[in-house]
Amino acid sequence: MNSSTVQKILIVEDHKDMLMILHRFLEEDHFVVFDSENAENGLKILEQENPDLVLLDLMLPGMSGLEALKIIKNSNESGSYTPVIIISAKSATEDIITGLELGADDYLTKPFNLDELKARIDTALRIKNLNDNLRKKTLELEQANKQINQLYQQLLEKNQELRRNVFNLNSLFEISLELSSILEFDRLVNSSLLTLVGQFSCKNALFLLTSKVKPDLLEPVNSKGFHQKELERFAIHRSDPLIESLSKNSVAKSISALHLELKNRSSALDRLKNLGLEFVTPIMVRNRLEGLIALGQRLSGRSLDRTEWEHLGILSNIISISIANSLLYNEIKQLSYTDGMTGLHNFRYFKLRLNEEVVRHKRMKTDLSLLILDVDHFKNYNDTLGHPAGDEVLKKFAQILRQTARENDIVARYGGEEFAVILPGTTKAGAVIVAERLRQAIENTYFPHEEIQPLGKVTVSVGLATMPKDASTAEELTQKADAALYYAKRHGRNQVKAFDDKVAREILQ
Ligand code: GH3
Ligand code: MG
Ligand code: MG
Repeated sequence: MNSSTVQKILIVEDHKDMLMILHRFLEEDHFVVFDSENAENGLKILEQENPDLVLLDLMLPGMSGLEALKIIKNSNESGSYTPVIIISAKSATEDIITGLELGADDYLTKPFNLDELKARIDTALRIKNLNDNLRKKTLELEQANKQINQLYQQLLEKNQELRRNVFNLNSLFEISLELSSILEFDRLVNSSLLTLVGQFSCKNALFLLTSKVKPDLLEPVNSKGFHQKELERFAIHRSDPLIESLSKNSVAKSISALHLELKNRSSALDRLKNLGLEFVTPIMVRNRLEGLIALGQRLSGRSLDRTEWEHLGILSNIISISIANSLLYNEIKQLSYTDGMTGLHNFRYFKLRLNEEVVRHKRMKTDLSLLILDVDHFKNYNDTLGHPAGDEVLKKFAQILRQTARENDIVARYGGEEFAVILPGTTKAGAVIVAERLRQAIENTYFPHEEIQPLGKVTVSVGLATMPKDASTAEELTQKADAALYYAKRHGRNQVKAFDDKVAREILQ
């Protein structure tokens, strides 16, 4: 309590003279004084004025001082603390003891010295002061405690949410690493769909991409949970308003929200809905919608919550970026002249060089030969020892070709396990010698576990043709060499066959 505030004292005393003396004495001592000659009125004043201290006579008309004391002390339990000093006749010792037991703070027996009264009042007020402060502090403490508890609860919830988010972000990060490492297009599309279906527990899903043949259409490239029949001839035309809506802000949307947005203008939307699909997300490549993924009903039946929408958005972005990378990779691969696995020239380079050599051959009037080589029973090797083992054979095979061919010969990987060697300025007889040398080199090289092959070792068949004798164009030369290869395969493999009448008769007719 602030010492400058005026303190109030209530005197309950039925003895008028006594009351007046006390009133005057206390007023002079700068207290605000209220008085009452009976307990009932005294209690009323107590309620209205909330005095800081009560001087209470025990002998009163009507309600006794002890009863009033009980009521005052009861109200003290809940409200602020009001000290009570009992004033009583010397003879009423029993009452004084009862009063003290009921919670009176002090007592004075009549007659008493006013200075002593003053000293008792000061002490009682000091105690009240301490008491009030204590109560205030306790209340503040309780309040603070409550707040701490609330904050702690919030912290626990936040912590849980954070843990969930960290977990989700971690798995998103792992997914992103995995997807972005897949360059092979079909596998990427498949993994993307599997990831989404797994993340959101959807019953089915559909991946549509711009058709290579009809660029105006988006066509299914992969799906989960559909029968092939359901998707037959399913396509979305680029002019469908759905495409524009998804392109505009490139975010995932629910089919029902899109229905509200597009009214009945989109037939694609109805068809997606008929397939049981509920969410669509665009696949953007270089700011253009190149595809969309539609997800079906969730196993839980629930829609997506806020965090899940965010995750769908993030995953769509990751998929979009991975798809863009994969497309770019394929374009670059197309543009490149080197076969990634063997390091030989690729088919693109082969075609280019063959055409150049044909032109040169015509100008220079020198012979031009072409060998096409195909590993014998390679499928058997692959199927028995696995694709990676097959790859190792192809790499070693390529190395032998490179080492054994002459400097001017152009060695290329023609296709899977087929190779081609262009021999500029080489006659058919010369080409047969080169081909035979290559065949023998392969036959004499040990390939791991080659004894499992039908011929007991890894071997190669070679077909060859020569210009101008066998062909006048690059295509024809290739076709003739291919026919000769086919003949060699038919006649026992592990051999070189040059195109001739026999080949023409047996293979080309
Ligand atoms: P043939 O003697 O008649 O040529 O029999 P083949 O088994 O070699 O012929 P086929 O055309 O039936 O099989 C070719 C196999 O080559 C099938 C395919 O899996 C495998 N192949 C093609 N490209 C690659 C590749 O890059 N790596 C591996 N490991 N295998 C490949
Ligand atoms: Mg083959
Ligand atoms: Mg083969």
